[in-house]
Amino acid sequence: PETPDATAPPARRRRASSATSEPLIVLDHVDKWFGQLHVLQDIELTVHKGEVVVVIGPSGSGKSTLCRTINRLETIDQGRITLDGQELPQEGKALAALRSEVGMVFQSFNLFAHKTILENVTLGPIKVRGRSRAQAEERGRELLDRVGVGHQADKYPAQLSGGQQQRVAIARALAMEPKAMLFDEPTSALDPEMISEVLDVMVDLAQQGMTMIVVTHEMGFARTAADRVVFMADGAIVEENTPEEFFTHPRSARAQDFLGKIL
Ligand code: ADP
Ligand code: MG
Repeated sequence: PETPDATAPPARRRRASSATSEPLIVLDHVDKWFGQLHVLQDIELTVHKGEVVVVIGPSGSGKSTLCRTINRLETIDQGRITLDGQELPQEGKALAALRSEVGMVFQSFNLFAHKTILENVTLGPIKVRGRSRAQAEERGRELLDRVGVGHQADKYPAQLSGGQQQRVAIARALAMEPKAMLFDEPTSALDPEMISEVLDVMVDLAQQGMTMIVVTHEMGFARTAADRVVFMADGAIVEENTPEEFFTHPRSARAQDFLGKIL
């Protein structure tokens, strides 16, 4: 870990890492096929408690599928995935319980349209975690405040901007008290002026020690918030490195080509 450079402007300053050496999410030789398509190829990935891993790569390289397998929204054909030492069960109650330990935020916000913002963040804790309404609402309001939409608690999703809705989606995931958060291109559907308000919330979360896997094309976020960048192409992890090394000295031709196109 480097020492933060106090002279760098805030946006470029690296966060202090909270990564530990304790494995939280482990993918062990994971393979998956969609028919003939070998969409995940021998994936080996360990994400440690407190670590922020940014996954980047061309469209169609398997990034979303990787995220979805971690939550068992997709099954795998070979290998093992463990969360905090427990192998993901195939189905049933045990799966639901384990699944709720990883919060997911997608490109589309997927809020419940006919529920208020507060109801959106209290529903899961009440139904799945067995919290009382009063407890869930107190915690829900705290989380909405934390992501900067506390004053919108009684509105409906359609009354909020895309950036605000995505911040509610983050609060809703956090309300379940997950051990880790998975973000799959959380800012890709947003108008440009709303991207930073969502990234700021994510940087904050990283700062507070949340374990995160983030699929994003926001290289500024990767540079400032990631402990590690994982580069995927054609279903495989082609290289992984610190953001400093990855962005300045990509080793593979695929990564060089990709960075050449987006930077
Ligand atoms: P990325 O998120 O990196 O863009 P995806 O994980 O969405 O990549 O997709 C990887 C590949 O798998 C793509 O070729 C995509 O068309 C294919 N794919 C994704 N989901 C399915 C599915 N349910 N059935 C068949 N093919 C799929
Ligand atoms: Mg995707």
